[in-house]
Amino acid sequence: MSKTIQSKIIIVTGASSGIGEATVRVLARQGHTLLIGARRTDKLKVLADELGSEGCKVEYRPLDVTQKDDVQAFADFAIHQFGRIDVIINNAGIMPLSPMASLKVDEWDAMIDVNIRGVLYGVAAVLPIMQKQGNGQIINISSIGGLYVIPTGAVYCATKYAVRAISDGLRQEHKELRVTCVYPGVVESELANTITDSAAAEAMEGYRNIALKPEAIANAIAHVINQPEDVDTSEIVVRPTAAL
Ligand code: NDP
Repeated sequence: MSKTIQSKIIIVTGASSGIGEATVRVLARQGHTLLIGARRTDKLKVLADELGSEGCKVEYRPLDVTQKDDVQAFADFAIHQFGRIDVIINNAGIMPLSPMASLKVDEWDAMIDVNIRGVLYGVAAVLPIMQKQGNGQIINISSIGGLYVIPTGAVYCATKYAVRAISDGLRQEHKELRVTCVYPGVVESELANTITDSAAAEAMEGYRNIALKPEAIANAIAHVINQPEDVDTSEIVVRPTAAL
């Protein structure tokens, strides 16, 4: 642990791949203590074991962010193990892009459930805890899709605009909390695997040519966490240099 970094208790949703996994690696190696969650516990175990063998403190728990009670149990487990929660990273997300006319209504529902409800359940699970503590940090992962809309992205972007609104409303209402909304540009991850529309999947291939490594977002998140307590980096956009 660097002398300038204060060790924190951090819980991360969607930690089994991509940005979540990379963020866990960066934060654990900086000396923070983590509780990580996702549905694929086999992947969480491999990550926790690997980091544990390096001397890092990482615990894992199965988590489905669409289940309110599950998200509460996740936060409660952190309190039981560590006594406090300094930071939650609401990162879990899915992106089954498609044109509106394909009427993939079940996928619209799934995006709303994971990308909006999941974030709200994360906020609800930690807010009373952080209010009691008198401090805390909530980091929500939106997207550049939370700043502008592209064809096939209407519903996905709507969920990410929602994350932006939730983050800023929360920030304004809570002087005791640091709240950050992160807007990543295209990043290498498993996110495009959720696309079932063949034209949308093909279009993603073009974007992926300039994709950032997930560590780029992980480093930005670590920067936000490691700022002094009176500094709230409320919004941060990280995109490939070559992006439009
Ligand atoms: P990945 O698909 O690699 O990771 C998504 C993570 O979310 C996985 O760990 C997955 O775990 C988890 N997840 C999905 N559904 C649930 C659920 N119901 N409950 C709990 N966890 C869930 O994609 P990324 O790393 O790219 O995505 C992370 C975030 O970054 C998302 O919010 C995404 O929208 C955002 N983002 C990504 C960009 C990119 O280009 N990659 C750009 C902008 C934003 P499991 O399946 O094991 O549950």
